[in-house]
Amino acid sequence: MNDWRAQLQLTELARDLEEAHGRGVSAACAGMQDPAFGSIRLSGTAVPILAEAAVTSASPFLRAPVLARLSKVRLLHPFTGVDGRCPECGGPAPCRTAREVMA
Ligand SMILES: [Zn+2]
Repeated sequence: MNDWRAQLQLTELARDLEEAHGRGVSAACAGMQDPAFGSIRLSGTAVPILAEAAVTSASPFLRAPVLARLSKVRLLHPFTGVDGRCPECGGPAPCRTAREVMA
């Protein structure tokens, strides 16, 4: 792989989200081809493309609640703290929560 994506340094969260996206596409492929759908079951080379499009369209709506909460956690537990201390935990910055969220 020699494109710009190969050079990205993803955070742990971004890697997790990308892996979840891939699993979602695989699940969508399997779901569209489920024999339980009978005569309306999808098949053929378009299935992975349709699955990717479906998951890509849905992902922002699925990710938004999680990312909004993580953003709030980052505001409560700033990595650099305030005067070297976490304003929420009171301990030295970065606190354990800030380190975990920034991973
Ligand atoms: Zn904290």
